[in-house]
Amino acid sequence: MIVVNNLTKTFRNGQLTTTVLDRIHLRVEKGDIFGIIGFSGAGKSTLIRCLNRLEEPDTGRIEIGGSVITDLNERELRLARRKIGMIFQQFNLLDAKTVYQNVAFPLEVAGHSKAFIRERVREILDLVQLGDKGDMHPSQLSGGQKQRVGIARALANEPDVLLSDEATSALDPQTTYSILELLKDINRQLNLTIVLITHELDVLQHVCRHMAVLESGRIVETGTVDKFFLQPESDTARRFVSIID
Ligand code: ATP
Ligand code: MG
Repeated sequence: MIVVNNLTKTFRNGQLTTTVLDRIHLRVEKGDIFGIIGFSGAGKSTLIRCLNRLEEPDTGRIEIGGSVITDLNERELRLARRKIGMIFQQFNLLDAKTVYQNVAFPLEVAGHSKAFIRERVREILDLVQLGDKGDMHPSQLSGGQKQRVGIARALANEPDVLLSDEATSALDPQTTYSILELLKDINRQLNLTIVLITHELDVLQHVCRHMAVLESGRIVETGTVDKFFLQPESDTARRFVSIID
């Protein structure tokens, strides 16, 4: 479960200060696939980066899987981050390493034995259907395969939550569909909580059960995805939904 209370983030550039996240409240139940939608610049990436404190919030409390992230010191935070998987639009794989080594990396950092790592990587590559690609390098893979490696790496340490920042934006519709199906499978099999940031309605409709709309750093609407499509309340929601009408 994820609980965010009163999260605010301001960037300062010389004299100029911009409030990018303004008193955000959010609650994501365990096992949910929760979508956050908003136009470019709304603050989506900043919000997801604040969840694991890649970006340090100015105010607020963040709780993930029972751990109060905002109360942790550096060392505790490093440990807690192992339980927060993250996937990205540009995959962020280590190009000099093989698929196997990419997935093994977070397990090595966590200090597991070689035998454990070998077993775990094999298991997780099978889960993302890349069991036969362990020796390849990222440059030899398609976009969809690269994102599967990204997902495998994010899942390596058995996280409580998976955060996805536009993970399918660089992929064609068919590949997007297969990655979304994989995320749904993983959600079902592992009861893993997934937070998915997107500006694509299709993505929201295809996988998410609950969602929030972010508009200029504020949550302006939250509820089920069905309600969003049937009774959009906020301007942003109405604009999104009218684009597909
Ligand atoms: P997109 O859909 O384009 O990815 P987004 O919703 O993810 O947009 P963010 O990347 O969170 O938006 O950015 C929100 C706002 O915060 C933008 O106005 C951006 O310029 C500003 N911002 C983000 N990071 C910084 C930073 N490090 N310093 C100053 N301003 C920043
Ligand atoms: Mg973004």
